[in-house]
Amino acid sequence: MMTTPVSDGSVSKRPKRTRAVVKSYDESFMDDLIEKHIGGDSKKRSRTKEELEKETEREALIALSLGFPIDELLPQEIQAGVVSELGGKEQNDYIVVRNHILTRWRANVRTWLFKAQVKETVSREYDHLLSSAYDFLLYNGYINFGVSASFSSSVSEEATEGSVIIVGAGLAGLSAARQLMSFGFKVIVLEGRSRPGGRVYTQKMGKEGAYAAVDLGGSVITGLHANPLGVLARQLSIPLHKVRDNCPLYKPDGAPVDKEADSNVELIFNKLLDKVTQLREIMGGFANQISLGSVLEKLRQLYAVARTTEERQLLDWHFANLEYANAGCLSKLSAAYWDQDDPYEMDGDHCFLAGGNWRLIRALCNGVPIFYGKTVQTIRYTNDGVEVVAGDQVFQADMVLCTVPLGVLKKKTIRFEPDLPQRKLAAIERLGFGLLNKVAMLFPRVFWGEDVDTFGYLSEFSHRRGEFFLFYGYHTVSGGAVLVALVAGEAAHSFEYTDPSTMLHCVLDILRGIYGPKGIDVPNPIQSICTRWGSDPFSYGSYSHVRVQSSGSDYDILAENVGGRLYFAGEATIRQHPATMHGAYLSGLREASRILFSTKARQNNPRKCIQKSFGPSNETLADLFKKPDLACGELLFVFNPLNEDPKSLGLMRVSFGKPSGDCNTEVSNEKAADNQHQDILDNQVQLYTVLAREQARELLQVTGGTWSKLSYLFKRLHLKLMGGSVLGVLGNSVTANISSARRGRGRNRVSART
Ligand SMILES: Cc1cc2nc3c(=O)[nH]c(=O)nc-3n(C[C@H](O)[C@H](O)[C@H](O)COP(=O)(O)OP(=O)(O)OC[C@H]3O[C@@H](n4cnc5c(N)ncnc54)[C@H](O)[C@@H]3O)c2cc1C
Repeated sequence: MMTTPVSDGSVSKRPKRTRAVVKSYDESFMDDLIEKHIGGDSKKRSRTKEELEKETEREALIALSLGFPIDELLPQEIQAGVVSELGGKEQNDYIVVRNHILTRWRANVRTWLFKAQVKETVSREYDHLLSSAYDFLLYNGYINFGVSASFSSSVSEEATEGSVIIVGAGLAGLSAARQLMSFGFKVIVLEGRSRPGGRVYTQKMGKEGAYAAVDLGGSVITGLHANPLGVLARQLSIPLHKVRDNCPLYKPDGAPVDKEADSNVELIFNKLLDKVTQLREIMGGFANQISLGSVLEKLRQLYAVARTTEERQLLDWHFANLEYANAGCLSKLSAAYWDQDDPYEMDGDHCFLAGGNWRLIRALCNGVPIFYGKTVQTIRYTNDGVEVVAGDQVFQADMVLCTVPLGVLKKKTIRFEPDLPQRKLAAIERLGFGLLNKVAMLFPRVFWGEDVDTFGYLSEFSHRRGEFFLFYGYHTVSGGAVLVALVAGEAAHSFEYTDPSTMLHCVLDILRGIYGPKGIDVPNPIQSICTRWGSDPFSYGSYSHVRVQSSGSDYDILAENVGGRLYFAGEATIRQHPATMHGAYLSGLREASRILFSTKARQNNPRKCIQKSFGPSNETLADLFKKPDLACGELLFVFNPLNEDPKSLGLMRVSFGKPSGDCNTEVSNEKAADNQHQDILDNQVQLYTVLAREQARELLQVTGGTWSKLSYLFKRLHLKLMGGSVLGVLGNSVTANISSARRGRGRNRVSART
């Protein structure tokens, strides 16, 4: 989900516009920081034990900020078999080595990190772990990715792995293309437009020789830590400008909003959102049947808040801000899951890139064969390969990666032969794809204040609350006096059908209403542009959101490949970072890895490539479920006692043929052990699934017996039951983590480094 700048330097769905400390962001701080962390001279060998331990901890923190849990492997690492045994000393050592490699590369993202370089700082006895970690990080796009000029000499020159057609030259398509080429694939990109970048589109405004660059699509890099776009900017030495926190608000008549009223309503807004969170916990799965908008309105009435006209307008401004963040009207967003990606938000400053994001796109295109004006109408996929039809041309390859926006998939302008699986079609239908529009204006001078990056405007009417509710000043990065007005929510839709000159007059009236009384003259703009992302046939909207009846798992379904031939990337395929530029970029890296691994698997077993499934042993599972953490009739749940995060994974077991018990959240261990005994005697069938704590809680809220809950499990949570032995690598990892946490065995940090 996209987010809005707020005063504390972060961006959130709950803008806190406190006073700002003006600070220019400098990515080299990160370099310095990391340089200090790894101790400068990487060849230093004579460090004390304490120093090494400290470094190991710091490297673990850097890895954590990049999305690697402190004490656990990522599911992909388990799947890749990076260690021979889960949960033991080897895994411990692997994590230390992996964190070290990650830190080494982040310290200097401009140069390729070779295995041999890492060997200099890791003891020889860990060579096998070093290889395993290095290969995992390299082939999964965690190191050595991007656009550094020096990389070209390190990547595969010959295309030996197979061929891939990529549909769409947006961030997802371009990141996948570069990564696949570096892995040794033959790649072509088919793009319908006459330009690359898709929803990243920097338009030149003004006169030749004095152009200003303005981003009409994706503009703010939301959270710099761990952000791959921050890496690209560092590789290209492009300066970033931190979006400053100060965001004054103005009333419909142009007068500044009183500070006290402003902070009071902000508090109310935040409290309402907290109440939504509490309420949906009580409502369980049913919260997904209702919209965030209706719950907020009911709560507002119930608590009788924001009753004066000014308060109501201020609250509407916050609602508009939320609609901007989600590119969707509140009446469409799922009350249960609208913020499902919150835990994964990137930390760090929100920044504009000097000269516009086009600079990243241009660098990403370098050396990639892109064919423009090739609107794809049909994608055919079989067991043997793929055919992609664009106009009267047919392109053939081993695989195809489709990166077109969700709006295009919803419109069904591309025909898939055979049809996409029903479950993918249903997810495409369920997920929301909303609208955000912009009016970009180039003025002869900056009249809104050099130190202001954002200011807001309150609408008189609720249904127009998103109309020009937020202004972005791009004078610091665009090369001219550029101001952009945002149009979100319902207003974004009517904007598409309104004459641009009418809209421009509206914006100028607002600006003159604000600045006129301050004695500041607002000149006519030299040039203006109104976007219409909703009518754009290569997008049909701006970005995705979780609509009523949808959930985060729909993003996962969108990301599923079909038959190992047809792959999908793009902002609407990445559950953790949807609706963002970095999400699109990361989804491209993800699919490049998936394509590489499935190609390897096919090469190793050309006739049939079935992944060997394995899972925890029956004894381990039986042992674990002797002490369930939650129980309800035939359903038993176990979780990692050291991880209370609602997203943390556990296991559910259902026994068929067992007399049903009461729904009881706390279980007596003796009783459970007795049941276990009885199970074995009765020879019952037991099936399992891996699920998150919050999903378990949701399931327990479902009224009715076991079958109602199972129906909810399949239909709403999209989870499957399976035998313990086929729970796979994820099941294995979850089991190992819970067992080890229960044994109370703290992680014994043994440094694998010298
Ligand atoms: C107005 C607006 C503001 C935004 N602001 C931000 C922001 O501030 N920060 C942020 O992080 N994100 C922002 N985003 C979201 C971000 O821009 C997108 O998430 C990201 O760019 C999507 O990249 P993508 O590769 O998934 O899709 P796209 O960039 O849409 O790429 C898909 C490509 O497929 C092509 N295509 C479509 N159909 C066909 C076809 N039939 N044949 C061939 N080619 C086809 C398209 O032309 C396009 O080039 C914004 C988006 C919009 C629209």
